[in-house]
Amino acid sequence: MSDKKVRVRFAPSPTGGLHLGGVRTALFNYLFAKQQQGDFILRIEDTDQSRYVDGAEAYVAECLQWCGLTPDESPAVGGPYAPYRQSERKSIYREYAEKLVSQGHAYYAFDTPEELEQNRREIPNFQYGQVYRDGLRNSLSLTEHQVDELLDAHTPHVIRIKMPADERVSFTDMIRGQVSFETNQVDDKVLLKADGMPTYHLAVVVDDYLMKITHAFRGEEWLPSAPVHLLLWDYLGWKAEMPQWAHLPLILKPDGHGKLSKRDGARLGFPVYAMTWFDGKTGELTPGFRELGFLPEAFINLLATLGWNDGTDQEIFTIDELIAKFSLDRVSKAGAKFDFEKAKWFNGEWIKKVKGERLKVKVKSVLEEKGVVVSEDEYLLKVIDKIKDRCVLLPDFYQQAAYFFEQPKEYDVNAVKPKWTDAKTEFFIRFITILGREEVWDEATLETAFKALAEEKAIKTGELMLPFRIMLVGGKFGPHVFDIAALLGKVETITRIEKGLGVFTA
Ligand code: GLU
Repeated sequence: MSDKKVRVRFAPSPTGGLHLGGVRTALFNYLFAKQQQGDFILRIEDTDQSRYVDGAEAYVAECLQWCGLTPDESPAVGGPYAPYRQSERKSIYREYAEKLVSQGHAYYAFDTPEELEQNRREIPNFQYGQVYRDGLRNSLSLTEHQVDELLDAHTPHVIRIKMPADERVSFTDMIRGQVSFETNQVDDKVLLKADGMPTYHLAVVVDDYLMKITHAFRGEEWLPSAPVHLLLWDYLGWKAEMPQWAHLPLILKPDGHGKLSKRDGARLGFPVYAMTWFDGKTGELTPGFRELGFLPEAFINLLATLGWNDGTDQEIFTIDELIAKFSLDRVSKAGAKFDFEKAKWFNGEWIKKVKGERLKVKVKSVLEEKGVVVSEDEYLLKVIDKIKDRCVLLPDFYQQAAYFFEQPKEYDVNAVKPKWTDAKTEFFIRFITILGREEVWDEATLETAFKALAEEKAIKTGELMLPFRIMLVGGKFGPHVFDIAALLGKVETITRIEKGLGVFTA
């Protein structure tokens, strides 16, 4: 590798919410940059005004922030190559398009959208390129005089690349190795549009050059555009500066048949976007991993393993481990199947892994949203530590934690009542008295007292534990019952036993 500072870019178009494949592209760029002590740049590719969606850029920025992928340069923080929004760079691109025209590598095309539409209708598989370009209205087919007249009259026109005939262009992809294309297969893409905006093809090359990008990692769907970009790097005289490219494998539907789409998420009941996206135009709400209760650590971790592994069985990685271990050599060429159950597994593992403190604010809001009052943070922390191993998604904390803050609203009486006996009633009445006198209040003391009394009354402990649990919790779930009682405290435990007795003996 050369000693040039590594500079990578994440270059989304602000057209809507971010698909998890988009975030993975950002992640792989980020990991590579940080591993190489390089810069991670966010560039907003908003030159297609017809696809521009309000709020999409802010969404991207928020999403990167949530994931902890902080750009070193971006529209928000600026940087030495500002502006980082292509629409604000509009004036830069024409010069390069004109240069290509003067070199004979591009040409003006005056065809109206209606004319092109008619061609598409009448000619099967119509492509603006070698086969048809001579019969169309452009600076290759018209005389110089005609072209000048059209330009002088400000006739709307675009600039197209002139794809050379019978050439083979190739490059070495960091994941795929040598990739080649026949120029005959590629149409004459528009480089500069009639509104003076560049298309993606021109803007991406010019900006990668001007912003001194050393490596460009993007989704596999961009591979077909590579020959156009390769030729532009060459024609503009920048070939030696061309970034190294890697085209990342697709994220596939769970059955492996085709790219995972937004529709698949809706059909199969899981999110495909990083965060919930609301489309102001259509009113459509697309659910996101964040809102479903994923931790960003887990989201990043699961994205990293979609198409990459470190060569061992390790699956849980912190961001620092990912930075240290990431390598494009271990990114597979084949698409990676998305498995939502596995995604949830990652989240469960991360909930287990992080400290309670990390979850405190999130759990508090889960509880408060459901009307549960959380007054003491210290108590909340103890509760979180007791139950977090049972939670997979953040909203699970409601079911697992609510009873620590309020008495059960319902009791699973069917689990208790049919086997209820007077002896059990007597047991619990006596237990209340014992608890009332108890000076040490911890799990071990409570358990010892409970078991001693059960033995004295000659009732199997097993027959008493479930009713005790249901008195405290309301249902058949939660951690060890004495841990629950220890946390609830003396007064609350006694109150719940009394209330439970009332319910079971009613
Ligand atoms: N603007 C393109 C996109 O929306 C970026 C492709 C690239 O990274 O070159 O994905």
